[in-house]
Amino acid sequence: MLETLHRIVNEVNGAADLGSALDIIVSRVKSAITADVCSVYLTDFERREHVLRATDGLATESVGKVRLPLHRGLIGLVCERAEPVNLADAPNHNRYLFVSETGETHFSGFLGVPIIQNRRVLGVLVVRQFEQRSFDDNEVTFLFTLAAQLAGAIIHAQTSGDLVIIEDEAPLTRFLKGRSGAPGVALGHAVVVYPPADLRAIPDRPCVDSDADEDEFRSAVAAVVEDMMALADRVDESLPAEDRALFDAWLMMLGSDSLIGKTVERIHAGNWAAGALRQTIEEHAKVFDAMDDVYLRERASDVRDLGRRILMHLQQARSEPIEYQPGTILVGEEVSAMQLAEVPEGRLAGIVSAKGASFSHVAILARAMGVPAVMGARDLPVGRIDGRRLIVDGYRGRVYISPASSVQKEYQRLADEDRALSQELESIRALPSETTDGVEVPLHMNTGLVSEMSSLGLAEAAGIGLYRTEVPFMVRDSFPGESVQTANYRSVLETFAPRPVTIRTLDIGGDKPLPYFPVNESNPFLGWRGIRISLDHPEIFLTQVRAMLRAASGLDNLRILLPMISTVSEVDDALLLIQRARDELIDEGFVVQMPQVGVMIEVPAAVYQVEALARRVDFLSVGTNDLTQYLLAVDRNNSHVAALYDDLHPAVIQALIRVLEGAARFNREVSVCGEMAGNPAAVLLLLGMGVHTLSMSAGSLLRVKRVVRSVSRARARELLQAALRCERPAEVSELLNNALEQIGLGGLVRAGK
Ligand code: PEP
Ligand code: MG
Repeated sequence: MLETLHRIVNEVNGAADLGSALDIIVSRVKSAITADVCSVYLTDFERREHVLRATDGLATESVGKVRLPLHRGLIGLVCERAEPVNLADAPNHNRYLFVSETGETHFSGFLGVPIIQNRRVLGVLVVRQFEQRSFDDNEVTFLFTLAAQLAGAIIHAQTSGDLVIIEDEAPLTRFLKGRSGAPGVALGHAVVVYPPADLRAIPDRPCVDSDADEDEFRSAVAAVVEDMMALADRVDESLPAEDRALFDAWLMMLGSDSLIGKTVERIHAGNWAAGALRQTIEEHAKVFDAMDDVYLRERASDVRDLGRRILMHLQQARSEPIEYQPGTILVGEEVSAMQLAEVPEGRLAGIVSAKGASFSHVAILARAMGVPAVMGARDLPVGRIDGRRLIVDGYRGRVYISPASSVQKEYQRLADEDRALSQELESIRALPSETTDGVEVPLHMNTGLVSEMSSLGLAEAAGIGLYRTEVPFMVRDSFPGESVQTANYRSVLETFAPRPVTIRTLDIGGDKPLPYFPVNESNPFLGWRGIRISLDHPEIFLTQVRAMLRAASGLDNLRILLPMISTVSEVDDALLLIQRARDELIDEGFVVQMPQVGVMIEVPAAVYQVEALARRVDFLSVGTNDLTQYLLAVDRNNSHVAALYDDLHPAVIQALIRVLEGAARFNREVSVCGEMAGNPAAVLLLLGMGVHTLSMSAGSLLRVKRVVRSVSRARARELLQAALRCERPAEVSELLNNALEQIGLGGLVRAGK
């Protein structure tokens, strides 16, 4: 049975549209179970009916025509119970409904199982037998398992099917559901982006014109040689001699017969250029893979990297560069931060990603850029919507594809309202961030996800509360050296001086892998991440800290922040290394100061040891994105559990209170730098708790300032007390949203998540 099940699921996943998927299901199931009939009814929620969508055994002309009221008949019963109904003698059941249009006689045996996704019954898969038949347990579980596996495919095919319909008929008023990634609404057109193909994914294909392929291949290699030489020139001075030698080795490889000659040979033997390249690179890399010497083994990744670069040029030669027009809504299976950065300024209107959730880094970046985004729109038919008109509702996590004009009008109105609100917010730009009873709450800015983003927030922020240093590490081919990093940090420190700039040490791992430092783990968020990697590789950490200290020379506005701290010894070890870096630099003649050092509170262990941590450092910064993920055991990037991820969960609120109490014992400043600090509703609670500073995406600064300026600390405390009586995140949200409404700030958060 298991094998049959796999076969059916595979076939269905490969079906072109919903109709053929359902036809496959009914015919395969009928024969697997040796039933007389197998049918699928799908629920039309708008019309409150179950519609016969496919059948093998009943009259085919009744497909699409037979419609059963939602709560009638045995199909209605399966749907209501949301569990299988197995009857040997169906006509004797009081819910039995005889339907003549299907040409059915009185079938006796009946087994119906619900098709469920996200707790919602989408339809019923049913088998019938002329004689009396009680289906056995194996048959019930077979159908049951099949229905569970098919729900996703059905939804997906249904959405694609909708698209086919709208090509000739009325546009849609229905929408796809995801999660809010960044607030706001956008009307524009879809530009679908794909990650550049990796070499391993390249298939063999017959070569149409081997001479042309050889030319393309040789030009791609020449382009890589040119890139390499330019890169070597650029980094020449900052690179130690042994690293420079690497460039020579790469250039030699690019001219070698084993790479060029072999690939050309394969092209003329009939494989297309990309396929021939893949074969040669793999052959070559495997030789290095098999070597005992660690250094030589590492060269395998150099070979693969060269292969990838050549492939990129080959692909560029074959494809037109993407043209981003104003109103671009970037759409993809998994839109990446890099893809966002590629869209020229002013052209990006919205983002829709099939994978990811509200707290993925790409969503954080979208918020920073003030671009509405929907994440985890799992049923998005990515391959079929390039160029279509889209509406992105970043408040409620909805995407409308080729929307009806009534929907467009409504959203245009919302977009205009948003614009008016932004203009209104401009009026508080120069005013202090101070509660109505005079408590100052400095608002800092998070930055670093794409360093050269824009001047957004530059004048407004009281400092940088979180500079994420990962991106400069992610966009390169190897770890950046000390001088490159120094230049990077210097420019941020200088731009903001004398305002404080909190630079976080490297937080790679989790969802931020480095291409040249592969870490293969089954549980990356619980694995080698953040400070753990830094301490295991003091050379990486020391280089980074030295660069920070050198960059701050003469400015002295640097604060260093340590991520992912889960034990006090990590803090002790990191502090020793920071002191060592400072001593080394002084010995080398640099004028450097010991900066303030803080830890991020983002692991539950750190909450419970907050006093021990506070005692050791100058300040604490709460990373609510990770703290929520670890407290609630909900992966922040997983769209399946996104509904459970909520930083207004009472457990998160309790944890924050505990942090503030612990820090107060040692008189330490507490900042919140997770996304919670940029959420106007949550800010009411953070003010009530007495958080000293808030650090957020640039796009949230004015909205949050508006909240701070509209409430007194006393009122915020009252709200906190009321929130502490709530047992569910939704109650807390409701409480806070109502409070915002009362002070006339309802427009800052639109209803629904
Ligand atoms: C956090 O976890 O809240 C945080 C600010 O860090 P990041 O989002 O980069 O993990
Ligand atoms: Mg974090």
